[in-house]
Amino acid sequence: MPRDDTPRKEEGQTGESATFRRLRRRAFLSSAGVAAGALAFGTPTVAADDYQSVTDVPGFSCDQPQFTCGREVTAADGMVSSVDPIASGVAAQVLEDGGNAIDAAVALQYVLTVTQPHGSGIGGGGFMVVYDADSDTVECVNSRERASQTASPELYHHEGEYDQDIETGEAMGTPGTVKGIETARQRYGTCSRRRLIDPAIRLAREGFTVDWFLAEQIAENTDKFNDAAIETYSDDQGNLYEEGDTMTNPDLADTLECIRRRGADGFYDSAVAEDLAATIREYARDPDQVVDEDDLAKYDVTIDDPVRKEWYDVELVGQPMPSSGPTVCAMVLRMLELLEVENCDIRSAEKYHLIAESIYSAWADRMEYMGDDEFVDVPVDDLLDDDYLRSRADPIEFGETVFPDEGTMGPGQPGETTHFSVIDKWGNAVSYTSTIEQFMGSGKMVPGRGFLINNELTDFDDEPGGPNEPDAWKRPLSSMSPMMVLRDGKPEFTAGSPGGWAIVSATFQSILHRYAYGLSPLESITEPTIYTHHFGGIEWDEGVPAEARETLTEWGHEVDDEPGEIGNVQVIASEDGMLTGAADPNRDGQAVGFDRDSERSCDD
Ligand code: GLU
Repeated sequence: MPRDDTPRKEEGQTGESATFRRLRRRAFLSSAGVAAGALAFGTPTVAADDYQSVTDVPGFSCDQPQFTCGREVTAADGMVSSVDPIASGVAAQVLEDGGNAIDAAVALQYVLTVTQPHGSGIGGGGFMVVYDADSDTVECVNSRERASQTASPELYHHEGEYDQDIETGEAMGTPGTVKGIETARQRYGTCSRRRLIDPAIRLAREGFTVDWFLAEQIAENTDKFNDAAIETYSDDQGNLYEEGDTMTNPDLADTLECIRRRGADGFYDSAVAEDLAATIREYARDPDQVVDEDDLAKYDVTIDDPVRKEWYDVELVGQPMPSSGPTVCAMVLRMLELLEVENCDIRSAEKYHLIAESIYSAWADRMEYMGDDEFVDVPVDDLLDDDYLRSRADPIEFGETVFPDEGTMGPGQPGETTHFSVIDKWGNAVSYTSTIEQFMGSGKMVPGRGFLINNELTDFDDEPGGPNEPDAWKRPLSSMSPMMVLRDGKPEFTAGSPGGWAIVSATFQSILHRYAYGLSPLESITEPTIYTHHFGGIEWDEGVPAEARETLTEWGHEVDDEPGEIGNVQVIASEDGMLTGAADPNRDGQAVGFDRDSERSCDD
């Protein structure tokens, strides 16, 4: 739980400041008879203790006394939270074997490549935020994909029009994931590559159980699959895999064997790389502008200092540019603090209004200023400056919406990814968001290699001119938001989500619910959220009360008619020497805690 001095709304609390009373008074003056929906609701009950049994991981069972599995679990010696019970189990086993949080995260990502190929994989990239207990520092292993060294701002200019086709070679960036996890393993880990990659190889070769979400993504994405993908996602009879089937991917097992033998070179400077480059070329409209063997051989990650912002009595840290996510999360959260959001009931129109207005404001700055900071000067310090944020928060009033740009609510960018977290008994922590951009990425699998190629470069603007225009060796602006909340410099909470532009909304609201409203880790995820961006318009989770939505409409917001589903958040909280992990119930996610002091080292 947040410490007692962290501001949060208690039942019957009346400690409103002048600022808040001003807002409330304005609401009364402008609501024209519409009651502000300041009603308190309970949080829906989610069975925290039901768990998915994991049968695909030899030596691991949720019934073993050292492991605790569920939507929300607490343990002393290690915690993993991911969207996939198999991957969480494998990672918990690494902790049991004496590996640290970074080792566990590396093994987990290799497994997700096999078991959840729609969301992330070795054909994609991501951002791993690492707290290293030994050095007491936070660093970000940035494995964001890059455009080719020959790409131009006109990358998407074809036949007289700007056309950003998600299935073309132009959409495919240099994958970063293998470099990212191998760099992290060498920099912070203690286990051998063999120990961490073997579980994924075994699952790819011997098979794993297809969950409902993978089955759905296979069925829904066949239109963009190439023959290799269709073949890989079909069983021996040629039928697409369905929920409950045992899927194997021997080509991927072979690719992972190459990485096992040669490390990252086995991916970037190898026959795998040649096949990857050939596949990208096959789908290119202009082969001179797309990623080739030389780009793959030159690709490397960067190790970035996190973006930081004080907030209440804690500090927010996360991946800096080229992800806009944590910076925007920090801007919005600080504005909400300045607006004293904690005085709003948790499901009131006032709370949703302050959130929406703060997002409109911060998102406008995102679109105006943010891009790859190797190419553009992004005024992050100015954007996070308290005077600036106060100037952005001050005009926000109850009763009317002041910020949205002209435009209508679009879907943002469709896309998906995955977020997971690990904390170990030494205090090391990982908050990692990983992606191949859209579900199943470009849909193009490298023949004979078993992995899908991302379409991450569609995160660039189509047309030149802005800070996020395409360019040679540039990284597209992301919304991924791997975050940590530090207290006295130590990780106290980790959070992140998939969901394209909605990642930001999903992530910061879980942090807000935890700290401003004092919810449990699982409640901080399941408390209904809203999503919007600079155009305005509000998408909402089931559970946002009708009264609040009506009031928001009265106040000028465009509110969707039907609920949506915003994000898939995984979190871990560290409190009083205990770790509590929670996984979003909107998919099959599972937290696994580890509870036995092990003297083993991971390669024994
Ligand atoms: N490509 C997205 C980003 O970096 C992540 C994938 C998604 O849309 O969820 O923001």
